[in-house]
Amino acid sequence: MTAIGFIGVGNMGGPMVRNLLKAGHGVHAFDLSAPALNAVVEAGAKAAKSAAETAAGVDVVVTMLPAGQHVRSVYLDAGGILEAAKKGALLIDCSTIDIESARAVAGAAEKAGFAFLDAPVSGGVGGAEAATLTFMCGGSEEGFARAKPILEAMGKKIVLAGGAGSGQAAKVCNNMLLAISMIGACEAFALGEKLGLDPQKLFDIVSTSSGQCWSVTTYCPVPGPVPGSPANRDYAGGFATALMLKDLKLSQAAAQGANATTPLGAEAMQLYSLFASKGHAGLDFSGIIKMLRGEL
Ligand code: NAD
Repeated sequence: MTAIGFIGVGNMGGPMVRNLLKAGHGVHAFDLSAPALNAVVEAGAKAAKSAAETAAGVDVVVTMLPAGQHVRSVYLDAGGILEAAKKGALLIDCSTIDIESARAVAGAAEKAGFAFLDAPVSGGVGGAEAATLTFMCGGSEEGFARAKPILEAMGKKIVLAGGAGSGQAAKVCNNMLLAISMIGACEAFALGEKLGLDPQKLFDIVSTSSGQCWSVTTYCPVPGPVPGSPANRDYAGGFATALMLKDLKLSQAAAQGANATTPLGAEAMQLYSLFASKGHAGLDFSGIIKMLRGEL
């Protein structure tokens, strides 16, 4: 089994560490938050005092941090991972960050002689707990082959999307599409209500017709048709609007950098920004149906 250093053991990193431990790996963990670190120590991880101490002596380092600036700092700063990791270690960043930061860290890691993968995830906290995450990876074939058995302890689908930054690129494309499809699903159900349609009947028809999509069949934004969807809990839990807004900002920055035209992605970002500014950043992103109905 592999000696793994894990930095960032919050909502996602915590359960990911628990699954690595369950698979028999040894984990050294570090987090700036003492409660987050204590939770994984209780599960069997060894606490480290710094990023450097976490990275020293292990074969694989995994990071799960909030944003690009944290990832750059933890890898590139004096006393960071690139300075401390042992020769030949494999470095995997699972955070969702901007493509530019992912490529900058990958370039510096490669120059320092390390294999580096960007490997953002889809599946949320539920997927992290159940070890059913999808990992979208960017990097070399060789790095991917080394990372796969480790990632399999935390996820179900592990895909190499291309070279450095490609995992982040795939993630922003997917989540931009998800935001657009959710707003579409909300508009359709809100219109159906105004037209006097029973939401269950509309669901039965759309879910087997050409309007069918994940936002309807798995995450239906009205209560009833899909009992597990956040709509049944008044939009508590699920995928927070703040996180969707973060991903939409990343997708729009990526679109601008690549000279791509994404008008619906831009509109989705504006709508989620408005919804968040009304005090609903913590609600599941399907809760935007309330704003589209004019309830907020
Ligand atoms: P979180 O805030 O719960 O966890 C991040 C952890 O990183 C925190 O515990 C924080 O203390 C720690 N941290 C920050 N800077 C640090 C540093 N310099 N050194 C050590 N620890 C540091 O966030 P999360 O929900 O676990 O998300 C992590 C990443 O996963 C984000 O990039 C997010 O976009 C992505 N993501 C989250 C979800 C989700 O549903 N929560 C889904 C997919 C992807």
